[in-house]
Amino acid sequence: MDHLPVFLQLHARPVVIVGGGHVAARKVELLLKSGAHVSVVAPQLFDELRKLADAGALRHVEASFDPSHLDAAELVVAATSQRDVNAAVSRAARERRIPVNVVDDPELSTFIFPAIIDRSPIVVAISSGGHAPVLARRLREQLEALLPAKLGALARFMGERRQAVKQALRAAARRPFWERIVGGLVGSRVLAGDDAGGQKAFERELYTSHLTASNATGGRGLGEVYLIGAGPGDPDLLTLRALQLLQQADIVLYDRLVPDAVLDRARRDARRVFVGKEAGAHSVQEQINELLVEYARQGLRVARLKGGDPFVFGRGGEEVEVLTAHAIPYIVVPGITAALGAAAAAGIPLTHRKLSQSVTFVAGHVLDDESLDWRHLAGPHRTIVFYMGVAQLTQIVGKLRSAGAPAEHPAAVIERATLPDQRILSGTLATIAGIVAAAKVTPPALLIVGEVAAFASADALLSATVPEPGAIA
Ligand code: SAH
Repeated sequence: MDHLPVFLQLHARPVVIVGGGHVAARKVELLLKSGAHVSVVAPQLFDELRKLADAGALRHVEASFDPSHLDAAELVVAATSQRDVNAAVSRAARERRIPVNVVDDPELSTFIFPAIIDRSPIVVAISSGGHAPVLARRLREQLEALLPAKLGALARFMGERRQAVKQALRAAARRPFWERIVGGLVGSRVLAGDDAGGQKAFERELYTSHLTASNATGGRGLGEVYLIGAGPGDPDLLTLRALQLLQQADIVLYDRLVPDAVLDRARRDARRVFVGKEAGAHSVQEQINELLVEYARQGLRVARLKGGDPFVFGRGGEEVEVLTAHAIPYIVVPGITAALGAAAAAGIPLTHRKLSQSVTFVAGHVLDDESLDWRHLAGPHRTIVFYMGVAQLTQIVGKLRSAGAPAEHPAAVIERATLPDQRILSGTLATIAGIVAAAKVTPPALLIVGEVAAFASADALLSATVPEPGAIA
């Protein structure tokens, strides 16, 4: 190990920074966050530092560097653009045995700043020992995405309850208890921002741990269900929370619309259960409901992974009803619904200031449902997205036409949107059914109807990443 990672307590401790520019400002911000008393030595302060000095957040020593500036310091940072000044700061600090960092110069430094993920009171520090700062920063980005935003809140939640747990449980029971808090219902509630739900679950957990003799053996806590929207197919379109909960779940129930690439993001040792169902097979949904209840009752953390968003034609509502009826706690994680994924993939803006003022999602397989107002759907300046409609495409087009939509009204079909083999077909109400039949489109696919459908382009992804010169007004 080239460097020993330590966390310094700097509250109200005197720290000196030499330099008055942007680089110094970054370090000053960081040190102020840690509560240090910061003095900045520089003949002149620029922008941000000027403002901080005016606001009284730091002390400005208006001078060129002199070793005596370090006399009271407990930590020193040199951040000037002149190497000889930085070297002089380094020398003076070493003579006084004060830890010193010279920005971007490990040779002149006795300590280095790590890349930091701040979820205070949880702080993660990463260092490459000065060998590859870019690599350390990349690692930080990856961890940033992985670590829940509310991690700090969970740490505080636990800290505030340590004393109570100490009083309620024997020493041997405490560790398994905290393991259950972190990995179970309490943790997932607090991480989802539901402190009240976390508190309720915590009280229950403490009560049962107190009662049961099994509390020293790490008996399972309460189970729960995560209803997770898996997005349209591309695993990069999963939300951060979906990833975090997939990493936690003991068992994953998934259906047809969820590709392997998404499933691969679940915890390695999680059990995977296929609960795919064909359209209209109602009894399968009942079996899924039963499975959710059964697994959660076994104390498992159950991820119910659903294509797109769980609450858009996903029967998530029914699953929630069943879970509520059985008093099983659940969390719903929204997903990118197919309409949004397909629209982005095809370059179709679902609304458009001039062309479309509203967007409607329609289940395209129950066409005789009286709740559908075809005259409204057929009107101008609106976007209609039909889910589950490829098989009934001819009927849909017929209904729109007889409700008054013109033959040249634009229409597009996006098959397997955001998946590697996605296809984008476009035409008009007069032509789209023929185009789709000739291309032998199969589900999953979406039909988008409205003026905006004329934007459909198979090159949307390409043109989005490589714009034509001057294309962006
Ligand atoms: N809950 C899902 C919808 C489930 S209904 C969501 O929010 O997206 C199933 C229908 O969704 C399919 O018949 C199809 O119309 C549409 N669909 C789902 N994934 C799709 C994809 N990758 N590309 C095109 N359509 C898709």
